[in-house]
Amino acid sequence: MKTLDQTWNLDVIFPEGSHSAAFEAFLDRLNSDIGQLTTALQTVSAPFTADDEVAFRKLIQTYEHVSKKLGEATAFVECLTAQNVNDGKALVLSNRIQSFLSRFETCETLFETALQNIDKSDWSLLIARSGTDGERFALQEKRELSMKKLPPEQEKVISGLSVDGYHAWGDLYYTIVGKMKIPFDHPEKGKAVLSVSQANNLLDDGDRAVRRAAFDALEKAWSENADLFSSTLNHVAGFRLSMYEARGWSDFLDEPLDYNRLSGQTLNTMWQTITEYKPALVRFLNRKAKLLGLKKLSWFDVDAPLTKKSKKISYEAAADFVVQHFRTFNPKMADFARHALENRWIEAEDRTGKRPGGFCTSFPLTQESRIFLTFSGTVGNTSTIAHELGHAYHQAVMNDLPYLTQKYAMNVAETASTFSEMIVTDAAESAAETKEERIAFLANKLERSVALLMNIHARFLFETRFYEERKKGIVGVDRLNQLMLAAQKEAYLDALDVYHPTFWASKLHFYITDWPFYNFPYTFGFLFSTGIYVRALQEGPAFAEKYDALLRDTGSMTTEQLAKKHLGVDLTAPDFWHSALDYIMKDVDEFLALTK
Ligand SMILES: [Zn+2]
Repeated sequence: MKTLDQTWNLDVIFPEGSHSAAFEAFLDRLNSDIGQLTTALQTVSAPFTADDEVAFRKLIQTYEHVSKKLGEATAFVECLTAQNVNDGKALVLSNRIQSFLSRFETCETLFETALQNIDKSDWSLLIARSGTDGERFALQEKRELSMKKLPPEQEKVISGLSVDGYHAWGDLYYTIVGKMKIPFDHPEKGKAVLSVSQANNLLDDGDRAVRRAAFDALEKAWSENADLFSSTLNHVAGFRLSMYEARGWSDFLDEPLDYNRLSGQTLNTMWQTITEYKPALVRFLNRKAKLLGLKKLSWFDVDAPLTKKSKKISYEAAADFVVQHFRTFNPKMADFARHALENRWIEAEDRTGKRPGGFCTSFPLTQESRIFLTFSGTVGNTSTIAHELGHAYHQAVMNDLPYLTQKYAMNVAETASTFSEMIVTDAAESAAETKEERIAFLANKLERSVALLMNIHARFLFETRFYEERKKGIVGVDRLNQLMLAAQKEAYLDALDVYHPTFWASKLHFYITDWPFYNFPYTFGFLFSTGIYVRALQEGPAFAEKYDALLRDTGSMTTEQLAKKHLGVDLTAPDFWHSALDYIMKDVDEFLALTK
């Protein structure tokens, strides 16, 4: 590929960045659009009947149009704040968007109520007559959710109280973690005071003495603040349980399962099948211990590097590699990636002042995506490009669908990205020139499998047991430590020497109030995507079309229906999970053979 510009082009969306007059005007119009939508929703006096197809269609079109504009504005501001963390004007814009979003939340509740109020006998007829069949699943879902909740006035009280009584606890968690200072005695560099993320970065240091010292220092810091974290966690859970009780929801897994359009039976089958395969992962962990000269690994050794860092590549070479390997699976994916790379959809430049991490965001009106990352020439960066292009491709195949139908759940959100990443990591592994390089690739993949199949399982086991006990009252620090230790020993089949009992304090996912049980969707997404990848390997180029069709449907059916329709598999039965896990565990055999 010719020389590529490593900065993205935002000007085609709105010119002149955070000082854009065009964007300012766009926000002004959006402001009045939200106002008009609110009024329209507030003045829906009587429930829609089967004869109100024109008014119903118009309301849905307006709702979708305002959502799209809000999506466009949110994505633009997200890009501005990421590309330059010191852009004060961008932060002002970001605050303005926040206020739009919270006003739009009111619209959502009113919209759901309007759907709920439609009589059962009118519902199907109204959908058919108004030509909103494409949105049927999304509309039905909103209607059912609204029915499961309390009357709108009471739900309004709950969301009002949740600002200070629920979400505030989640915010407090970040405040406490942000203030934590970790006194650290580096075995070579001497004493220092670190932030939590600086100390965390040392947990996969090549020197075991550094890892251990960082782990001990962190464990001490988490313990010292454990009473604050335990209060926070107990109050988050307490609020959630009281809210569920008021709504008459008996199972605390109902909400997270609903969010993910997944059945409890599928989730159980997934965890059960994973558990059957864990002995293979233990063989990997034991071999890794041996390679590091240890009897057993400790918590802080699981991600330790086995070799020194590998060689660097140019951005153009990375781009070529991604496009070339996408092509073997799906020519449309390759053409899409090339288009995105050449038209500056990617902000990859390695410079200061950028936010860390990577993301992909989409502009629903412009129908383009933008990808953010910092490329420093590693193989990991190449995988990130592939991962984020996967997200962008997922969006691209859905662009012509009704906007309400483009919203997919978290557990399938990572399907296309993980799939793309697998193509590239597997290709990189095959291209490895030395045995050491190959071992390093396999170890990285297996460490990811350990994280998704063991570490996340421990989080799930802990969280379900904690919520069960929390129903009876406050769960103290010692008990939280016990629950976590037991969950980790169980999830890792007791393969480790030292565990991390204060993990319930250190893992922010337990404190996220917007998404309860922010754990199993990761594992689901990983295995679902692996299963699809296995199918793609078996079926060759013929699979490309099926893959696109599957992605298009991610926003308009349950996960079980999606798997049945496009893969012909039953997710509540173990077979599909076997196919994914068999594929993952092949890495173990290869790793064991290469490191004999
Ligand atoms: Zn992703």
